[in-house]
Amino acid sequence: MWSALFFLSLIRIEDISYFKLGEFIRLSIEISQKSDFSFSAEKNAVKVIFKEPLVFEKNNYARKKKVMPFKILVKGAEMTFIFEENFSVARYFVLPFPYKIIIDVSFKMSDIEDILTEGEKRRRPKIILDAGHGGKDPGTTHFNIREKDIALSFVRELADIIRKDRKFELILTRDKDEFLKLEERSGIANAVECDVFISLHVNYTKSSAVKGFEIFYFSKKFSKYALRVAEKENGVKLKEGDIVLFDLFSSYKEESSKKLAEFLKENLKDIGRVNRVEGAPFYVLAGTFCPSVLIELGFINNHEDRRKLISKSFRKAIAEKIYEGVKNFITYQLSYQNSYL
Ligand SMILES: [Zn+2]
Repeated sequence: MWSALFFLSLIRIEDISYFKLGEFIRLSIEISQKSDFSFSAEKNAVKVIFKEPLVFEKNNYARKKKVMPFKILVKGAEMTFIFEENFSVARYFVLPFPYKIIIDVSFKMSDIEDILTEGEKRRRPKIILDAGHGGKDPGTTHFNIREKDIALSFVRELADIIRKDRKFELILTRDKDEFLKLEERSGIANAVECDVFISLHVNYTKSSAVKGFEIFYFSKKFSKYALRVAEKENGVKLKEGDIVLFDLFSSYKEESSKKLAEFLKENLKDIGRVNRVEGAPFYVLAGTFCPSVLIELGFINNHEDRRKLISKSFRKAIAEKIYEGVKNFITYQLSYQNSYL
């Protein structure tokens, strides 16, 4: 009896993954269950201290990744990551199911506020476009039409327009048919110090009569409908009580993301119905430093929407409207900020 209880209270480190982009590293620590922890960061070390002892089979991990830009030390309930040099910013947020602690470490920025200030002053703001799904994840499919392909076609259309205008720097999370984890996509946005992050997707619902655009931003408050869309895009089921698992930093830019969504609606409504602008816990938007939205471009199982989604001229018209919305938002943001300078 006692031994069973003892084993239940251990936390197993299931996986540790990371990606490095320039002077930025995003760590993702997957653990076996929800657990309270404290976080500290100093010089070149980030420490996560749990309440229960940790189980970490380091050998398994070391075999998988030979060269890592950090060392991992596990002692009792403490896990420490030691980097090769001192960092300037380290922050974290949590994604549930599977329960992951995501840690962003940057080696050049001085603190979060500086990142934002720098973003305001930069001559060319950075737009990050994210084509949903990809590789082994086709997204929603109907009549052999795959969401991952439509999303990528839209991203390419929008990228062409943005590049021609030369007002903004542009970064794509993927420009081919490849799989990326949801937290890698927002990680790229943070690594390049994004100003606007847009993830493009295609919708599906039971009724083939439903059509139109839907625009979402990250929020811990949501309607039942928005939660269903988020679950579909996250690939996991969430219960209302689970939302407390997201921490404050998950919705760091909620207000400005909502504003961006409203600007996009103003432009998109010229060429089609916008069913809703709503918040929900979308994993791909969690923890971004910049205003971030996810656009559902139409319903793949609605005849009219499907016809539009596969039409190049319609994709171009949509992309132009999205770009206008982004430009208006950035102009608004700059003028709003200037009034406080
Ligand atoms: Zn999707």
